[in-house]
Amino acid sequence: MADEQITTIGRCYVCKHTFGFIPASVTTVTIDPESGLPPGMTVLGGFREPTPEATARSVEEPICPGCVDRAKRFRDSADSPALRFETWQSDPDHR
Ligand SMILES: [Zn+2]
Repeated sequence: MADEQITTIGRCYVCKHTFGFIPASVTTVTIDPESGLPPGMTVLGGFREPTPEATARSVEEPICPGCVDRAKRFRDSADSPALRFETWQSDPDHR
């Protein structure tokens, strides 16, 4: 096949399952290894301006199609009163 694309095997950052993907088209999420969250995202589910250090140490992690789907569905239903981020605020002073 003339336009055969090279598939890479990687591990989904969310569910830890290995899956094959095409690096040029895979969905990735930028993760700050220190917090395990995207840079700038707080453990409370809020967002603040990421520090230059957090941005510099962050790495792109591949996400499998199943988790991309779940994330989209979660975002679509995030307005539902049953899914509030407030439940995460067990320790409001923690940063
Ligand atoms: Zn996954």
